[in-house]
Amino acid sequence: MKFGGTSVANIERIRNVARHVKRERDAGYDVAVVVSAMSGKTNELVGWVTETSKFYEPREYDAVVASGEQVTSGLLALALREAGIPARSWQGWQIPIRTNDQHGSARIESVDGAGLIDGFSRREVAVIAGFQGVHQASGRITTLGRGGSDTSAVAVAAAINAERCDIYTDVDGVYTTDPRIVPKARRMERVAFEEMLEMASLGAKVLQVRSVEVAMVHKVKTFVRSSFEDPANPSPGTLICDEEDILEQQVVTGIAFSRDEAQITLRRVADKPGVAAGIFGPLADAGINVDMIIQVVSDDAQTTDITFTVPGAEFDRAKSILEGHKDLIAYASLQGATDVVKVSAIGVGMRSHAGVAARAFRALADKGVNIRAITTSEIKFSVLIDAEYTELAVRTLHTLYGLDKT
Ligand code: ADP
Ligand code: ASP
Ligand code: MG
Repeated sequence: MKFGGTSVANIERIRNVARHVKRERDAGYDVAVVVSAMSGKTNELVGWVTETSKFYEPREYDAVVASGEQVTSGLLALALREAGIPARSWQGWQIPIRTNDQHGSARIESVDGAGLIDGFSRREVAVIAGFQGVHQASGRITTLGRGGSDTSAVAVAAAINAERCDIYTDVDGVYTTDPRIVPKARRMERVAFEEMLEMASLGAKVLQVRSVEVAMVHKVKTFVRSSFEDPANPSPGTLICDEEDILEQQVVTGIAFSRDEAQITLRRVADKPGVAAGIFGPLADAGINVDMIIQVVSDDAQTTDITFTVPGAEFDRAKSILEGHKDLIAYASLQGATDVVKVSAIGVGMRSHAGVAARAFRALADKGVNIRAITTSEIKFSVLIDAEYTELAVRTLHTLYGLDKT
């Protein structure tokens, strides 16, 4: 069982979590619980780090931001004991959850389930601090990237061979799009791993991308469900499962959007071999992910324009790298925009249907939404548009593909 920030936001909410745990334990299960920090806590901790030092020191960043989960794991263990249930807290390093040393976005390498399973022999509930691990060689605390408690939960479930992994949050499942933006969004009974992976990586924050990968690789039966329903009788939520286990398949199953995008355009770049490598090589070396790329065919065969997107948080860094290489790349000017959003439609049915994206371009044009860039792949397409049209575009596509709740 995993409980996110809003589910452990205060002591009363933590007591409510204890009731959910009690239900499962009373039903005869051994339970490992993974908790996030209280909602808002991690942002506050990150704020303290940046306020203290402009110089990014990843090991101390992790030492600070991992602390929110230490608090909630201890508090939930106490609340369970108050309710008469034996329980203890576990920090990432105590289990241990071993990760690589990529502080701030570390990847889990192994989880030792032995201590947790030993506790089960005494019918003790294991309350685990999510989001954190330890790098073995240095002995230092690591964190798994924002939203990483989801990944902690699925990885622990795999390590202890759990019957299932329930991710409790503030919505009762995975929806066809963010229900906070589109009230007509529909809850899905089931969603395929591949679709969930795309939805998460294209902006649907309901699950961390890595958690879906781990669930898919280790075949962990994972549900998304609500902690805000009656703890005595909650609904099952949404199951993330294999494509073959979904009977009714629609062409498009979900719409996602990401505001964390920035667009860069280089004007009048020399139109000759090696130029794209000259631009994207240095960005790759700096670890900057480039997403959509458009190169215009030039009239004169002398120069061309290249447009691409990078994560919003990397915009300034990307710009200064390109400015540093201006002599080599030889472009006339650099233009950038951060008030852009990427809206995507996802569905495994796109593999076998033509013209799915074309319908979207028509519908968006009819609403006066200008498209700045497009990318497509086997089971999704994305358009980059002005941020002010986000809700209009998401709602338009949601209706277009028949996803609205009736
Ligand atoms: P937690 O703190 O429990 O980890 P998150 O805020 O990380 O919760 O994730 C839950 C939120 O994800 C929901 O409140 C919802 O607004 C958002 N969300 C975005 N896209 C979707 C979607 N397709 N289905 C469900 N929720 C979504
Ligand atoms: N508390 C961490 C965050 O806010 C991890 C999580 O909630 O999953 O990103
Ligand atoms: Mg989350």
